[in-house]
This record gives sequence, C-alpha cells and structure tokens, in this order.
Amino acid sequence: MPVDNLAVRRPQFSTWLTATNDLTSRFVSAARIPDLINFAGGLPALETFPTDALAALAKELTLQYPQDCLGYGPTDGLPELRDAIADRFTSPILCLSRENVLITTGGTQSLDLLGKVLIEPGEVIAAEFPTYVGAMDAWRPRQPQYREIVFDAGCSDLASAFAGAKLIYTVPNFSNPSGKFLDLPTREEIVAAAHVTGIWLVEDDPYGALQYDGPPLARLIDLSAHRSPGAIYDGPVVYMGSFSKELAPGLRVAWIIAAPEMIRALKAAKQGADLCSPGLNQRIGLAAMQHGLVDEMRPRLITLYRERRDALCAAMERHLSDMFVWDVPIGGMFVWATIDGSRIDTDRLLAAGMDEGVLVGPSSVFFPSDGNNAAIRLNFTFNPVERIEEGVRRLARAVRAVQRS
Ligand code: PMP
Repeated sequence: MPVDNLAVRRPQFSTWLTATNDLTSRFVSAARIPDLINFAGGLPALETFPTDALAALAKELTLQYPQDCLGYGPTDGLPELRDAIADRFTSPILCLSRENVLITTGGTQSLDLLGKVLIEPGEVIAAEFPTYVGAMDAWRPRQPQYREIVFDAGCSDLASAFAGAKLIYTVPNFSNPSGKFLDLPTREEIVAAAHVTGIWLVEDDPYGALQYDGPPLARLIDLSAHRSPGAIYDGPVVYMGSFSKELAPGLRVAWIIAAPEMIRALKAAKQGADLCSPGLNQRIGLAAMQHGLVDEMRPRLITLYRERRDALCAAMERHLSDMFVWDVPIGGMFVWATIDGSRIDTDRLLAAGMDEGVLVGPSSVFFPSDGNNAAIRLNFTFNPVERIEEGVRRLARAVRAVQRS
C-alpha cells in the first residue's frame, strides 16, 4: 500500500496533542535539565525517600510473598492492603470494610477510572477553578463540560449550582494549584449539597497529611458518614488517597474509598485498564504502614516542607512582591501567585524562565478555558532553601524580561 494512503488513514489525535498536554509534558521533562531550578512540578523532595528501608523491604517481601509480588493479583488490590486502608480511615463515625476500598496504580489512575465509569461525552463536571491539571488530562478523552463553582460557605446555593452535574470534584486540603484549604462550614455545605442532589462528590486528598499550621479539618467523607452513623459507608463521597506524597510516588500505589457499588464499578473499569496494580509495590506500601515508616516520615516531611514554604515566601517577598500577590498556604506543595497590576501573559514566562534557568507552572494549564494567564504556580517542596532563593531571583529577572519585551 502506498505510504500516502497510510497518512490519510492516520487519526488526528486531536484529543491528545493539545497545547496543555504539551506544556505539562514540558514541565516533566524539564525536571531533568541540569541546573534548571524547577518550581513547576508537584515533586516531593528526593532526599525524603526512605531508599534503604524500601530496598530492604523489596527483597524481603519478594522472597516471602513471591506470588503476591510477582504474579497477577486481584484487580481490586491486595486484600491485606485494602483492610489496612479501611482500618486507617475508619473512625467512630466512618465505618469502612474492604468492600469500600479499591487499590489503584496512582491517584492518576483513580481519576481515569472515575471518568470511565461516570462521564459520557458532554456531561458536566462541577469544580472549582483553577483545578488540578492532571484531573482534566485524565478526563479529556471523556469530553466533559466543566462548570465553575465557587466553594465558599454561605455565598451560593450549592445544591442548585451542582444540579445536573455528573460529578463534583474538589481538593479540599491545600488544593493543587491554589493551595486553598476549605473551611469547615464550606465542607459541610458541599457534603449537604451532594446528599441532597445525590451527585457523586470526588474528594481528592493527596496532600491531607502535609499540614504545616493549625489543626486539620474533617474530611468530606467523614462529614458525609455523620448522616448514617454505624453503617458501612454507602454515601456519595468518593475519597482518593495516595502513597505518592507521603512515601514515594514511584511506587504508583493509591486508593479509592467509596460506596461498595462504586468500588465494584471502578473495579470493572480497572480490569480493562491494567488488570491489577503492581503486587510488590502494594506489599511495600502495606509493610511501610505496618512497620510505622509512613507515620515516622510524616513529621520529618512537615518540618522540611514548612521550612521550604517559608523560604519560598520570604524570597518572594524580597524579589517579587512588587509584581505578584499570594496567600501563604498552610499545607501541601504550592504557592499560587497572581500578577498584581501590570498584566503579563504567564505562558510567556515559560520561555523567559528557561532562558534564566527557572521553571514555573503558568496558570493557563489549570483552567479548561482560555484567557487565564495572570498567575503562576510555584512548588516549594522539591528544592533546598539555597536553590529556592536563587530560583526566585531568576524568576524576577524573567518577569522583568517579559515586561520589557
Ligand atoms: N490529585 C492531585 C490533586 C494531585 O496533585 C496529584 C499529584 N500531583 C494526583 C492527584 C495524582 O497523584 P499520583 O498519581 O501520584 O497518586
């Protein structure tokens, strides 16, 4: 067959080769450029990975459980890990069993599976914007429409705002990218509206354990369980957790906690996605919980990341406060900074920043529509304090170069 005919038959890939996808993959590949100071990725600090402990566990567990680690495993996850996750999140109010838990290959797969079981083309996802770019990436093939909701208690009638949506998506703890922490009245209103409307409420919570100031607030799933205490959880909240930020993202082990019916549907979708998550990594995650490694790491992560957050905000005060405004986040991994006054297109900061040796996330990628180019997302967990200071100096130079051009 002539080569030209093959070209004619080639699909357009228009869903995949978008400008946003291109920008996101540039973030990921830029992480490897030497001397570039990367504020763009949502990356944990490499030095926090418990390398020796995980390497020892990998050897020990492979020898002890060769079938679990190296064979195909159950699609819904290693039963012992499902039990351990159910135990970890069970509270006097929230009653969970294994049937409420699906193990996934990263929170990204959780999002993908939720799109597959819930979203038909043109259906509506209600969310706050800016929102997590990876969620929009995962859902793009489902061709949803997005409806912007402002999650602020007392400001709006949330049940009406949600009406007709297929799912509600929120990152209540230190959102990616905004760093926003939803207050308790807002959480209660969101949960009440989900119960009234019966719409699935996806609570994406990879950063919940990384809180640097103040007391934690109730999870949406706990607030939802208050409505039927004592029974196995069967409400509308779909809670997503992950080992990525509290242990190591390369393990690609995460979980969904939800009503048993939702877990069964997601399991069916997972079967066609990857059959099962890696057994060795699930065993490592389970052992890391059982041996107290995850609990031991948490205070060390909090101390390190709090120091880095403070260093970033102090450096921004010194070098960027005439150009940007921001709130200091009380947890998570990101500062969201908005251009103050003279408007520049932050997409242009990508190239100008690369010339100076610094990379930030431009706001456009965190919105489903065009025209949101007045902010940046800065990660503060990955770089040591000295690099943070130098990176902010480089960024200030890049901003001035864009302003001049
Ligand atoms: N949700 C949010 C809000 C995130 O920030 C991330 C990671 N950047 C994920 C989900 C996915 O994380 P993972 O696939 O590593 O579990």
